Amino acid sequence: MELNLENKVFLISGGAKGIGAAISRTIVQEGGIAVIIDPSKEAGANLFQDLVSENKKVYHIPLRLLEAEHSKEAVDLTVSRFGRIDGVVNNAGANDGIGLEHGSPVAFRKSVEKNLGHYYDLVHFALPFLKSSKGSIVNISSKTAITGQGNTSGYTAAKGAQLSLTREWAVELLPYGIRVNAVIPAEVMTPLYQKWLDTFDHPEEQLNLIENRIPLEKRMTTPQEIANMVIFLLSDRSSHTTGQLLYVDGGYTHLDRAIGRK
Ligand code: NAP
Repeated sequence: MELNLENKVFLISGGAKGIGAAISRTIVQEGGIAVIIDPSKEAGANLFQDLVSENKKVYHIPLRLLEAEHSKEAVDLTVSRFGRIDGVVNNAGANDGIGLEHGSPVAFRKSVEKNLGHYYDLVHFALPFLKSSKGSIVNISSKTAITGQGNTSGYTAAKGAQLSLTREWAVELLPYGIRVNAVIPAEVMTPLYQKWLDTFDHPEEQLNLIENRIPLEKRMTTPQEIANMVIFLLSDRSSHTTGQLLYVDGGYTHLDRAIGRK
């Protein structure tokens, strides 16, 4: 299927590692231009070199999006280089374990800000260009927004808000023909996930336990499987899809209860 991404410009926050890297790669494989906003100098530079050596169009902005001006800078740099923006993938985030009982009000606010603020900022500053291109926005949330996880209030609050903003922006941006959707991963092997697994005494056992709970094929979702859905949502092949919350999780979030009753 031709996705018509040729020479279209997409911003991917956290696009140098894990899920974001798979999204960046897939965009350029489909002929699009990936603007990777990610502070990871080594991962960003490696991915950049890989893709450039394959004659792919890619641009690395080595920024961690913390303050609003970082998002503005990323948008300004992109527009001065390419003159357009066709889509935004809000992906950067980290499950930072700021809980209720063992967290603190200050740490909670910081976690929400860190995981949510730049989702708003990037789209806010990119909006004039998305209006011109009738662009597409994809927010990467998490199954924890729906299921909870325990001991991670800040992260889940941000992930839940990302789902609300998906609906909210889908409504607000209807007049401009800009579509807004969310992709909800559950268990995907990435550097962030591996770091979390390594906090267990027996990471391999923990991984087996999790995989056995995943209804479809008893395995983790791959970053590429998340990227495939994101690319579809960015492309005009999903031209009448907006405001949708799409679970790419092997049935983990919803099917487990049905299976339990059998
Ligand atoms: P990852 O392996 O840590 O990759 C994320 C990348 O984003 C890293 O390069 C990271 O750099 C960068 N980053 C973090 N904060 C940033 C910021 N403020 N501005 C720019 N770049 C930033 O993470 P992942 O597992 O691929 O997760 C990607 C998204 O999927 C996150 O929103 C996460 O919540 C969501 N998700 C993942 C899973 C999963 O199973 N992996 C499940 C549900 C949801 P540093 O490493 O230098 O911080």
